[in-house]
Amino acid sequence: DMSLSKLRALVPYHLSQLRAYSSAKRVPLFINGQFLQSQTQEWIPVHNPATQEVLSLVPQTTPAELQQAAEAAQKAFESWRKTSVVTRQTAMFKLQQLVKREMDRIAANITEELGKTAADAKGDVLRGLQVVEHACSIPTLQMGELCEGVATDMDTYSIRQPLGVVAGICPFNFPAMIPLWMFPLMIATGNTAIIKPSERDPGAMMILAELANEAGIPPGVLNIVHGGKSAVDFICDTPIVKAISFVGSDKVGKYIYERATATGKRVQSNMGAKNHGVIMADANKNATLNSLVGAAFGAAGQRCMALSTAIFVGEAQEWIPELVERAKKLKVSCGRQSDSDVGPLCTPEAKERVESLIQSGIDEGATVILDGRGCRPNGFEDGNFVAPTILTNVTASMKCYKEEIFGPVLLCINVPTLDDALHVINSNPYGNGTAIFTNSGPVARKFQSEVDAGQVGINVPIPVPLPMFSFTGSRGSIRGDLNFYGKTGVQFYTQIKTITALWRADDAKDVKATVNMPT
Ligand code: NAD
Repeated sequence: DMSLSKLRALVPYHLSQLRAYSSAKRVPLFINGQFLQSQTQEWIPVHNPATQEVLSLVPQTTPAELQQAAEAAQKAFESWRKTSVVTRQTAMFKLQQLVKREMDRIAANITEELGKTAADAKGDVLRGLQVVEHACSIPTLQMGELCEGVATDMDTYSIRQPLGVVAGICPFNFPAMIPLWMFPLMIATGNTAIIKPSERDPGAMMILAELANEAGIPPGVLNIVHGGKSAVDFICDTPIVKAISFVGSDKVGKYIYERATATGKRVQSNMGAKNHGVIMADANKNATLNSLVGAAFGAAGQRCMALSTAIFVGEAQEWIPELVERAKKLKVSCGRQSDSDVGPLCTPEAKERVESLIQSGIDEGATVILDGRGCRPNGFEDGNFVAPTILTNVTASMKCYKEEIFGPVLLCINVPTLDDALHVINSNPYGNGTAIFTNSGPVARKFQSEVDAGQVGINVPIPVPLPMFSFTGSRGSIRGDLNFYGKTGVQFYTQIKTITALWRADDAKDVKATVNMPT
């Protein structure tokens, strides 16, 4: 006889889940200004990471739909590239107003799909909004250069023209900020865009698409496709796409960089990180300890600029017990709870990975002085929670040090001198960000000059630059040579063309041509 449990075993998931799946809303594609239901048979569930509730289903976009998106963008480029730069600026001003208006709605979606606390989710939107605001200066940002009189009656000037169709592939951890690092500058420079948000939390990008529509950005200028590897492979391979912006993990970033540059595309890949904070004993103690706790455990450590390793120089290590006390004060709970400081990790697999990396540290000789494993906040027992965890006596050979943990885990290393700290940081393959806490100018200056990381904080724990600068990861944290946003962001999305023009009223007197290289 066929019992219910046997029946359940026959289907890939439980019946209650099956019910949740069949009633879950399906995330549409956004192609040529239309929200469309995908015809795919493959749907990826989006879960609330605090409860496991199924929130929506994301389509694995079909090859025909991917092609449709690419062709829509290609068609729209013909007219979008001819719009005046002031028209595109106006679109950015409108988008800015709308993102501000819908800030709370986007943030609430981030809390639902990713679990960030309300304030942190708002920060996610705000840091993206700043790029829209920067893109409002596009007439100045996209200016070329001119040199008058390179020869008699001859001038040389450069112009920056859009590339065509460009694409963005996004990670899960900043579902508003990272798409906003990409599409505003893509389209403000006159390109048309295809964005693939993370399949784990596409909701914020879907709201942004609605707002782009409302801002009057024409059909086909911004398109959204969904899914995982097959959508990414299409973007890498299609000759329609001219450039790709990627943010995400190492493995995928390198893969996309190789696959897409092989077809002649421009690629910028921002990847993983292991960021070190150096604590000097002369630093302001309260500010430093608060900074370390905020930067290690905020967003549950799921920031590429999280400070995941603290290097205590000399006597500074005496502050570790107080660091633990402060970390213990953080409330771990669903991001929707108003007093929550640390939300859940993105998936059950991420929780498992983080917990196993903690165990590997202990197995290799580290000491766990604050253990956040097995955390089950009241009312959210099924969530992917790990509470703040601190490991001391960590060494560079341990797996937990070598791998990016991407969870609320702070590793502590003690060294005698600043030179030793610099040696640890500069020997690590990653080079995203770092920070030093000190009151000594000479120490800070030596650090800024000798440390090999792209973004350096001096008494600033998460030095993510505002968009008048660029996001400048270095070494293993980046592939490609033009950074995201700022001046280099505009350079990435434009092709430079240099024109040399001769305007002379009188015709030449010679009747024989000269064949020498013009000098
Ligand atoms: P991920 O690499 O798993 O996913 C990123 C994107 O790649 C997603 O859109 C996903 O659909 C796609 N993808 C996943 N697997 C793929 C495959 N096998 N082939 C092709 N495409 C694939 O990254 P994530 O887990 O979403 O994001 C976390 C990572 O992002 C961390 O390593 C973090 O450090 C990094 N990150 C870096 C920065 C930065 O600026 N350096 C910023 C934010 C996040």
